[in-house]
Amino acid sequence: MTDLAITFDDVTAAARRLEPVAHRTPVLRSQTFDELVGATVLFKMESLQRGGAFKFRGAYNSVSQLGEQQRARGVVAFSSGNHAQAVAFASRLLGVPATIVMPADAPASKRAATEGYGATVRTYDRYTEDRRAIAAQIAEQTGAHLIPPYDDPAIMAGQGTAGLELLDETGPLDVVVAPVGGGGLLSGVAVATRAMSPDAEIYGVEPEAGNDAQRSLRDGAIVTIDTPQTIADGAQTQFLGEHTFPVLQALLSGIVTVTDQQLVDQMRFFAARMKQVVEPTGALAAAALLAGKLDIAGKRVGVIVSGGNIDLNRFAALISD
Ligand SMILES: *Cc1c(COP(=O)(O)O)cnc(C)c1O
Repeated sequence: MTDLAITFDDVTAAARRLEPVAHRTPVLRSQTFDELVGATVLFKMESLQRGGAFKFRGAYNSVSQLGEQQRARGVVAFSSGNHAQAVAFASRLLGVPATIVMPADAPASKRAATEGYGATVRTYDRYTEDRRAIAAQIAEQTGAHLIPPYDDPAIMAGQGTAGLELLDETGPLDVVVAPVGGGGLLSGVAVATRAMSPDAEIYGVEPEAGNDAQRSLRDGAIVTIDTPQTIADGAQTQFLGEHTFPVLQALLSGIVTVTDQQLVDQMRFFAARMKQVVEPTGALAAAALLAGKLDIAGKRVGVIVSGGNIDLNRFAALISD
């Protein structure tokens, strides 16, 4: 355990840094949902986090630890959306210049929000260009510090504070479920859960079209896939991280997948019954429960609802029948 990238102390340290700036997002219940799935479900609404997703947690935890000189040189990040917004927002709060490398086909709302926070946006073609190489080049040319989207201890510890807050509010749970893209959120939440609710089972949920995390755990090595075609754009990652994978390997009970249609069903439930706007990726964990992918009968289940950033026209089109 000691050779994992982060410990629970890292998560509690991140929680102290975030306490003055991050929202302590609400934990919501729905009696209808509980009846549908036959369990007690507690939804941690990171869709209501600053910047509209949990990613503010990792970004702020990371940027706030940079020294004066590095802050002056700025930061650079590559992201399909929410990490971009989060780094841009955290950087603005801390007075640090930010450059964001973003796919040319990123949702309009995400690009606009990133620019609105004062960041410089550099676009690329996500099917042909290598965003890591572009970001690395900017870092080399300008001296900017690269803030990776998930495979970084400061990011993982920051994201883990969502799990810490959830368990702080609910007490021990039987099951904790979170989405997995590159595994930053899930690894942090898993470390917090193992410390605060040692007997809880921990599950990840990813899109069926891109089940690299599921395959990686099965194979015992990081599996790389082509960019998956799914409406869950925050989980279109091609591989887990070198830091996140060992944490998931050590702490997870398993990973399940859901289809795009199951994500839409869950988004409709959030909107109709709970009056919540949740983006497709944000609905992953809850969708797995609604689709009956996990054995949760009679259990107390914590679910991370990871984000709510979606273009309103797109949201309306997805949830209309
Ligand atoms: C980034 C993101 C995820 C996946 O997080 P990872 O740390 O890459 O696993 C899930 N949901 C939303 C809304 C996201 O923005």
